[in-house]
Amino acid sequence: MKGIGFTQKNFLQKVKKWEKPLYLIMKPPVCGICDKDLEADEGGLVYFKRRPSDLKWDERAKQPGFVGHPPYAEWFCGRHYERAKELSDLTIDIALNKLK
Ligand SMILES: [Zn+2]
Repeated sequence: MKGIGFTQKNFLQKVKKWEKPLYLIMKPPVCGICDKDLEADEGGLVYFKRRPSDLKWDERAKQPGFVGHPPYAEWFCGRHYERAKELSDLTIDIALNKLK
């Protein structure tokens, strides 16, 4: 993950665009496949099937003050987003292997 060229300003724009709670999107929007910085009008965040460890993460994330990026979610650029969504019924480790 690089995230170079990413600024807090465009990060907040993305958060606003997808209307997800801020605590769920702490990872800069950089494609999980090609490391491309996402533009405001492309790609998005894909949530994959939760593994047992991800369910534990969800429990921790409910606690007040918790900050973090879901381990079962990843950003994808315009080129990889549709394919990633098709694989979202797999767990993230399997899906990313198929996408790469
Ligand atoms: Zn990509």
